Amino acid sequence: MDMLINGKYVSDMDVSEVINPYTNEVIDTVPVAHLNKVDDVIDAANNAKSSLQEMSAFKISNKLFAVCDKLKENKDDFAELLSREVGKPINEAYVELDRSVETLKLAAEEAKRIYGESVPLDAGLNGKGFLAFTQKVPLGVVVAITPFNYPLNLTIHKIAPAIACKNTVIIKPPSDAPLTVMKFAELLNEEFPDGVVNTITGYGSEIGDALVASNNVDKISFTGSVTTGLLIAQRAGMKKITLELGGNDPLIVLDDADVDSAVKGVINGAYLNAGQVCMGVKRIIVQEGIYDEFKTKLVSETRKIKKGNPLDKNTELGTLISQKAAIQVEETVNNAVKAGAEILTGGKRDGAFYEATVIDKVTADMDLVVNETFGPVAPLIKVKTVEEAIKIANMTEYGLQAGVFTKNYYHALKCVNEIEAGSVFVNKQSTFRTDNMPFGGFKNSGCGKEGIKYAVDEMTKTKLIGLNLR
Ligand code: NAP
Repeated sequence: MDMLINGKYVSDMDVSEVINPYTNEVIDTVPVAHLNKVDDVIDAANNAKSSLQEMSAFKISNKLFAVCDKLKENKDDFAELLSREVGKPINEAYVELDRSVETLKLAAEEAKRIYGESVPLDAGLNGKGFLAFTQKVPLGVVVAITPFNYPLNLTIHKIAPAIACKNTVIIKPPSDAPLTVMKFAELLNEEFPDGVVNTITGYGSEIGDALVASNNVDKISFTGSVTTGLLIAQRAGMKKITLELGGNDPLIVLDDADVDSAVKGVINGAYLNAGQVCMGVKRIIVQEGIYDEFKTKLVSETRKIKKGNPLDKNTELGTLISQKAAIQVEETVNNAVKAGAEILTGGKRDGAFYEATVIDKVTADMDLVVNETFGPVAPLIKVKTVEEAIKIANMTEYGLQAGVFTKNYYHALKCVNEIEAGSVFVNKQSTFRTDNMPFGGFKNSGCGKEGIKYAVDEMTKTKLIGLNLR
């Protein structure tokens, strides 16, 4: 599949293969762009700014709704491609498609709500006699750099609000899973003028870095790892950035919790998308009184998970994005075992597959839980008190989301108050997001928020207009 630059399909001398991690077949190739293409794509996005900014909000909204309809009509093709390039179970691919449609719809609605506000300058010294108001003005060119795990919806979370508030966009999709996003860019391009939506493929460390460092783009909206996010923060200079980075989300289960719901929370939170979810349940902190019952039930439910061909509707656990990624998870788990942890079920790798794995006797200092383990693992940490649970929950550089299961309101509110995370859910695991909610982590999990309305805030600048009526 070729890149989309200024409405034209563009190739380059070199290509990279996009591999289906389940079959190891080459699905397609994409260009490995040379650096000169970065200038082309930036020029295209800058030159298209006026065509979009002259368009009424009414028209932009209608066009986004039209793209939404097209995505819905082509849902089956998109879901299959997504499943093949990520190794994601087809049912989960459909969920991502449904959410993508919803995200687009929210952006189409938000395009009509880009309001400023009136400002009472007379409340300040010397401000008497002014009529003043603000406007939200587009930034210009927004660069969207996105990861492999939810390539479509995470990209739409950037480009749809960007267009809704009249910014042109450049998409740098993940090299492991670029195809669904590139196919989606074609739908947008059918509706909007050439250059409003552009894609460029190639190495993140080269193409991504050149986009980040350019003085001719206005905003970097990045989702990915903390390592890359920190690099981007250093390279971006004065331009605006939003960083949606990794997570190491805790799930706290207290003695008075509904055990079955908490177990369900882990099944839905730790193994979804083979554990490759930023807000996945990555540390399960369980109070000692309920520990054995919780552990037994979790192992039993984990053993029921059906691993298999991602395109099979009965499959619940697909592959990881690559064999390399699965080996990394295997090594991390094996190191924890060497340090005293015990595998209760799972723990085996087969190519890019890694089994859904429950690990007992995990301590808070093991690499398995200190760093973000991006695989289907459920590490259990036993604690005595709610205070200890909160302390361990906060013992991390991350702060994306968190969940606590308890029926005790005092404990629930104490957790809500004291856990350092962008969202804390009670009687729900962290692996939960609606596409309109403010989403974004504390600490090294990033800066800035997404969730259409909040993304629009970050993709506009506020201009004050004052009329001296004296
Ligand atoms: P990644 O390695 O950081 O890559 C993300 C994107 O950045 C890719 O498109 C990559 O391109 C590009 N990139 C790499 N180096 C770059 C550089 N120096 N400058 C600019 N761009 C560069 O992350 P990943 O492994 O794909 O994704 C997994 C991570 O994303 C996890 O940590 C996960 O928690 C996090 N994540 C966070 C959220 C959230 O909303 N907070 C959501 C999903 C995932 P190439 O693919 O070409 O290398």
